[in-house]
Amino acid sequence: MFSRTTSYNSSMLPSPRVLLSIDYEPWFALTRRYDALPGPRQRRKLDGGFSLHALDPILDMLGEAKASIYLVGEIADWYPEIPQRITAHGHELGLHCQVHRPLVETAELEKDLCASQGWREAHGVRGYRAPMIGIREEAYPLLKRHGFDYSSSIYAPAGTLLKKDGVWELPVSTLSMFGSPQDLRAPREFSTGLLLGGEVPYGSSFMIGLLSDSVLRILERQLKAGYSPVIILHPYELARPEGFLRRLWPDVASHPLLFPFTLTKSNFLKKLLRAFPVSPLATYLDEALALQEAAHV
Ligand SMILES: [Zn+2]
Repeated sequence: MFSRTTSYNSSMLPSPRVLLSIDYEPWFALTRRYDALPGPRQRRKLDGGFSLHALDPILDMLGEAKASIYLVGEIADWYPEIPQRITAHGHELGLHCQVHRPLVETAELEKDLCASQGWREAHGVRGYRAPMIGIREEAYPLLKRHGFDYSSSIYAPAGTLLKKDGVWELPVSTLSMFGSPQDLRAPREFSTGLLLGGEVPYGSSFMIGLLSDSVLRILERQLKAGYSPVIILHPYELARPEGFLRRLWPDVASHPLLFPFTLTKSNFLKKLLRAFPVSPLATYLDEALALQEAAHV
């Protein structure tokens, strides 16, 4: 069950900015080839220190700008200093998942949420970003039980804010060609169905990889219209893992749609930070709720 509280009236929304998020995951999360690696030791070894070494360059790139960084929890197990450094720099720390794999099945999601409980509570995590933007409606009561305030796990037009079973959903942004989509039930992942319905998921780093200048133009137009688009980047798009293309080549050759994720996006981020204000998603959500409350007094 969900109640639709979408507001397309931009005068009711907080000041427009880009809601910048980074799904902070090991470089090999891009391919499904390593999903079944049995132990945390093997995955840590395969990561080869990338998750640790990428953090400083990314924090430097962000500078004074604050983002939402949705962390894969096993990285916090490997390097406890990573979540600490993220929050010490004033960024929002969220959950991407504990171990990166599809978490559409509710039972799998529950296991994953239990596994991340310790570090989530220690760092006051409020937000969830589903791996591969894959979530079902049944997940929202589960997220509520595990203490989440919000999720950003479907695609929908900027300006959409939904409450689903007590949890806010602040979607990753699409541009809708044929007016507002009527059905905003999960799942709303990057699919041919979404594209055939006339929605361009420009918040995806896939689109940013293919059409970065067009995405910057869309962002500019959306901000001018008063909206705050949600976009996703990944650490391996901002700091290059050693031998990244060589190691991923077999995956890209067999799944060419992975190609845009292998392109570096640090120039895109630099241009974005020069051109637009940014904020974490939780900051925006708090402002939006305060405005709604003020309007009802
Ligand atoms: Zn991911």
